[in-house]
Amino acid sequence: MFSLEQLLISVARDPNASLTMLQLVHESFSAILSEKLENRRQLEFHGLKPRVIQSEKRNAAGAWNVHENECEICQSTLYLSRVKGVFRKKYSVCLRHAL
Ligand SMILES: [Zn+2]
Repeated sequence: MFSLEQLLISVARDPNASLTMLQLVHESFSAILSEKLENRRQLEFHGLKPRVIQSEKRNAAGAWNVHENECEICQSTLYLSRVKGVFRKKYSVCLRHAL
């Protein structure tokens, strides 16, 4: 399973991607990032502290962990952001559902 963000990053890194494709990726990714940054600001306003997950820890188990990698509410794949422990300690939700 992968997220839209992961797909867009992969396309942007493709050296064979056309200028038109890169412009579409930029437009989509900019909108996604703007929403994520605004949601993060709101969560910080409510007292949540951001924490960066080291990439080596992210895949330490080597297996897909549905509790950490999917939103408990909407089942969306969590790639750039997740909020842990909102409803249950080891489960994650997306920024939108954390608000
Ligand atoms: Zn969600």
